[in-house]
Amino acid sequence: MTRPSTAELAAWDHQYLWHPFTQMRDWLAEPPLIIERGEGNYLFDTEGRRYLDGVSSLWCNVHGHRKAELDAALQAQGDQIAHSTMLGLANVPATILAKRLIAEAPPPMQRVFYSDAGATAVEVALKLALQYWQLRGEPRRTRFVALTESYHGDTLGAVGVGYSETFHRFFRPVITPALRIDPPHVFRWQQHQTPERALELALTDAERVFTAHGDEVAALIVEPLMQGAAGMWAQPTGYLPRLRELTRRHGALMICDEVATGFGRTGKMFAVQHEGVEPDILCLGKGITGGYLPLAATLTSEALFEAFLSPYESFEAFFHGHTYTGNPLACAVALANLDLFESEQVVKRTGERACYLAGLLAELPARAAHIGDIRQWGLMVGIELVRDRSTRAPFDPALKIGQRVVRAARERGVILRPLGNVVILMPPLSISPDELAHLVQVTIDSIQIACS
Ligand code: PMP
Repeated sequence: MTRPSTAELAAWDHQYLWHPFTQMRDWLAEPPLIIERGEGNYLFDTEGRRYLDGVSSLWCNVHGHRKAELDAALQAQGDQIAHSTMLGLANVPATILAKRLIAEAPPPMQRVFYSDAGATAVEVALKLALQYWQLRGEPRRTRFVALTESYHGDTLGAVGVGYSETFHRFFRPVITPALRIDPPHVFRWQQHQTPERALELALTDAERVFTAHGDEVAALIVEPLMQGAAGMWAQPTGYLPRLRELTRRHGALMICDEVATGFGRTGKMFAVQHEGVEPDILCLGKGITGGYLPLAATLTSEALFEAFLSPYESFEAFFHGHTYTGNPLACAVALANLDLFESEQVVKRTGERACYLAGLLAELPARAAHIGDIRQWGLMVGIELVRDRSTRAPFDPALKIGQRVVRAARERGVILRPLGNVVILMPPLSISPDELAHLVQVTIDSIQIACS
């Protein structure tokens, strides 16, 4: 079958599609860029033009596109079976993967519950926590504590804990809002504080909420080290262990949402491992399949799991599941992904690349007056653009500065996607030092053009 022309595809896109997180009025005003194939860290459009994938296809690609080992795993599993349900049946790759995930995960993780998106991994975590406390005879524990501007996905439960005014205000009437604590984010939230003082203030605020509501809290949920969708709000070290201590003191569970930070992104396999923090529940997604297929997992301790064991007729099982839970194709690719982490020493290499990237980023503020702040954990970077560096006054949103940077970068063969006026760099972990240097060079050129 010959494929339709670019013009035909563009017309059909405009006629039939509704893109996620997209103001469609803007989208419809110009032809879409249509990706046809990928190769390593590059994407190719239907006209054969090549682009460096600077955001790893929304933060999930790990080893580059068309990685031979992942392609082969997908093919081999396809020769066995594409899908078989986990409701009442087990399957081979999902079982082996569960064992492997637990071997990689921090203690006390012991059980794997699969789903198919970061948001569903979070939904599962929230529902597990709620049911756990009822089964344990503490039905008062129904509240969640979450950081202001945290993001945990777009399903309604996840929106309740990860509320963002810009994204979710239309759904406010139907969500269950979380108890909010201040993040230790210096540039926007705790402005004009030293990092030490911001940390102190954030901990005091967390202490305040737990003192007032401790015995109603089912769980605290946190994106460890970096609040991604907030605009890469980095946490100083020391914050997570103190949150862990606080939840323990008040008898609440701790859920770490590593959908974005997991699988090597921050320079450790999981971000909590930077600080030796042991959550009760860990949410995983995105990079779990190397960025190939939709798969997510919610990991829990054995203690949490055991609370659900009871006679059938008590109907205390965890009544939650999705049609594609534990999909064999996705799990087979996830296994090959973990093999690559080992054979290519991805975590160690990412740490080295992150150091190199930090050196490149350090030179940027001198080259563009509108760079207000640069935040980095591993290969996860936010460059915040401001109208005035001294006052941190933001650009008028109508100027669409972030979009202008993306446009300029695209013309230079690099794909970026901003969060408001924060330019995000989140390349595949397979990016080479030369490609990193090119990514940073195009980014600074594009910032200069967009802000001039
Ligand atoms: N949690 C975090 C921390 C995320 O960054 C995201 C997505 N960016 C999600 C949850 C939601 O994941 P998904 O888009 O796969 O539902």
